[in-house]
Amino acid sequence: MFPGELDEFVVSLGQPRYRTRQILDWLYAKGAREPGEMTNLSKALRAQLAERARITALHQVDRRESATGEAVKFLFELPTGQRVESVLIVDGERRTVCLSSQVGCPLDCKFCATGRMGLIANLEAGQIIDQLLQVSQFVRERGARVTNVVMMGMGEPLLNYDEVVRALTLMRLEEGLGLGGRKITVSTAGYLPGIHKLIAEDLNVGLAISLNSTTDEIREQLMPINRKWQIADLLAAAREFFDRRGYRVTFEYVLMAGLTDADADARRLAELTRDVPCKINLIPYNEFAADAGFRRPARRRLEQFYRILRTLEVEFTVRESRGRDIDAACGQLYHRQQEARQ
Ligand code: SF4
Repeated sequence: MFPGELDEFVVSLGQPRYRTRQILDWLYAKGAREPGEMTNLSKALRAQLAERARITALHQVDRRESATGEAVKFLFELPTGQRVESVLIVDGERRTVCLSSQVGCPLDCKFCATGRMGLIANLEAGQIIDQLLQVSQFVRERGARVTNVVMMGMGEPLLNYDEVVRALTLMRLEEGLGLGGRKITVSTAGYLPGIHKLIAEDLNVGLAISLNSTTDEIREQLMPINRKWQIADLLAAAREFFDRRGYRVTFEYVLMAGLTDADADARRLAELTRDVPCKINLIPYNEFAADAGFRRPARRRLEQFYRILRTLEVEFTVRESRGRDIDAACGQLYHRQQEARQ
């Protein structure tokens, strides 16, 4: 609930408005799961809440931590029995939570395990927030706090626009989780109508676009959404995002052997992004299944790709996946779970 909605509810119970802030603090900062835990509320109010309200929560069915402790994967079950995953990524002082927005995904990117499921369901805002609350609780118990959120888990967030934006708004509220806009990034496969809506939204969150190829021909093979919105459209959207929101878009680029890792790709990537205020994040592919047909480039090939970009003065970062040993790296979330179930 937004503070205004909770306020109305509190008033409808005949309670003073200052109770709203106390309840929000219990829900978001202290992670209370029962009204009975809210010890600074009167007994009568706790009883009213227990009778009239329900604090719903996803059921945490599994949690796995990587050997290095740099990634922790959480598996949650919805009331319908469907499952989604969230991942905590630890990097120095930074604690980033990668959240899911859908069960499955309709976009069918060929290199992604989640894409194989098709769309099963959209998550509600509360279910998105609850992933964050439960991971936050885990982080808090270890004496730290969540610093960043990426909407980069299962699903295409911009295809579940209203619920995702509601969740993002709640994350940013000071009375809520209080995460600054620049600490939150929405990642899209390039759903252009959603990008335009987000640009117009007064939300100030970061945007990442999965580019993954330098030609429409290859991108279309990898990401069917490219049949509708092509590389030029995405570059134009990135320019618009910067002009209107003042943030540079991050282009995610997955390096796949023989498909996206050629010298010519590196040169085209430099050329395409030359006049676009953007950041480039290179991700060597994670093999999630032997039959997926995609491979991670050899180390020497990766080095050569990076060298060409450096020579052309392209700024980039390389994201080496954390949590490969717990299948928490991008695109692996669903597949192993399904294998295990079978
Ligand atoms: S990469 Fe993202 S958009 Fe593409 S199928 Fe996977 S979850 Fe969906």
